[in-house]
Amino acid sequence: MTETRDTVILGSGCAGLTAAIYTARAGLNPIVLEGHEPGGQLSITSLVENFPGWPDGIQGPELIDNMKKQAARFGATFQLAHLNSIDLKSHPYKLNTSAGEVVTRTLIVASGASARWLGIPSEQALIGHGVSSCATCDGFFFRGKPIAVVGGGDSAMEEALFLTRFATKVTLLHRRDAFRASKIMLERAIAHPNIELRTNTVVEEVLGVEEKEVKGLRLRDVTNGAKSNLDVEGLFLGIGHEPNAKMFQGQIDLDDEGYIKTRNNVLTTLNDVEVPGVYACGDVQDRRYRQAITAAGSGCMAALEAEKYLEEHGH
Ligand code: NAP
Repeated sequence: MTETRDTVILGSGCAGLTAAIYTARAGLNPIVLEGHEPGGQLSITSLVENFPGWPDGIQGPELIDNMKKQAARFGATFQLAHLNSIDLKSHPYKLNTSAGEVVTRTLIVASGASARWLGIPSEQALIGHGVSSCATCDGFFFRGKPIAVVGGGDSAMEEALFLTRFATKVTLLHRRDAFRASKIMLERAIAHPNIELRTNTVVEEVLGVEEKEVKGLRLRDVTNGAKSNLDVEGLFLGIGHEPNAKMFQGQIDLDDEGYIKTRNNVLTTLNDVEVPGVYACGDVQDRRYRQAITAAGSGCMAALEAEKYLEEHGH
C-alpha cells in the first residue's frame, strides 16, 4: 500500500518552496516534486533587486537555494519527478509520477510557467544551437558575438542588459512601438551603449538551419512590410511564459490562457465548485503580478489553507 501523505507540493520555485517552509513548520512533512525546471524561474535569473530584505539584491539561484535549505531544515523532502497524470475525482488524490505513485490528502500546485517561443520552424530547429530562452544559462556562450533579443517586457530588458556582459552588441526586437517593460528597466536598456532597440519588427526566420548554428535573422518591419537581414550569432526569446497547467485540464477550472482559476487567491474549482484540499499558487495561477514576492505570498496562503483543511478533517 502506498502511504497517504498529508501534503504534496508540485513545483520547487518561489511559491512551492514557501509552501514547503510553511507546511514543514506545521509538521505536515511535505514532499516537493521538483519537475522539469527545478527552482523555477528564479533559478535561471540573475540579480533580484526587488525581493524585500535584500538591500543590495540577491542572485536568483542563491535566493532559491536559501528557500530550499530553509524548507529542508523543517523536514520538507524533495524528489525529482515529473507528473504523468493525476486523479482529482476521488480523495485521497493519486498522482502518477515518473518516480512512482504518490497519494495525498492535500495538493499544492506550484508548477509555474515555462518560457514561450515564437513557434517558427527555424527557431525550433536551432534551440540549443544559438537560440535560447535563458540568458543567464546560455549568455556565456556568446562572448564576443552580436546577438538579438525578442520581446518588449521586463524579461526582454533584463536579458538584453545581462547579455551585454558577453555580446559585442545586443539588438532588441519588439513587435510594437510601445513597451510593456517597467520604466526603470526600459530606461536602462535605452541608455546602454551596446543595446539597440528596434520596434515594429518581427522575426520571420532564423537563418542557419542547414549549418546547425544561427547565422542571422530575417526580419520584417510590420509598418511597411519591408524585409531585412540582421547579422547575429544568437537569438534570445524574452516573450513571456505559458502556465504549466495542461495536466489539470478537465480536473480544475482553467482560464482562456490556461492559467488555473482561483478563488480567494489559492482555492481551486471544477465547474465553479471548490476542489477540496487542492490549492494553486505562484505563476501557474497568476497572470497579473507574476513577481517572486507575490508567488511567495500565495505559496504561504496555499500552505495555510492546506493546514486548515487537514485540521478540519481530523488529520
Ligand atoms: P510580459 O510582460 O508578458 O512581456 C512579454 C513581451 O513579449 C511583450 O512585450 C509581448 O509583446 C512580447 N511577445 C509575446 N509574444 C510574442 C510573440 N509571439 N512574438 C513577439 N513578441 C511577443 O512578460 P515578461 O517580460 O516575461 O514579464 C512577466 C512579468 O514578470 C511581468 O510582471 C514583469 O514585470 C515581471 N518581471 C520582472 C523583472 C524585474 O523586475 N527584474 C524581470 C522579468 C520579469 P506585446 O507587448 O506586444 O504584447
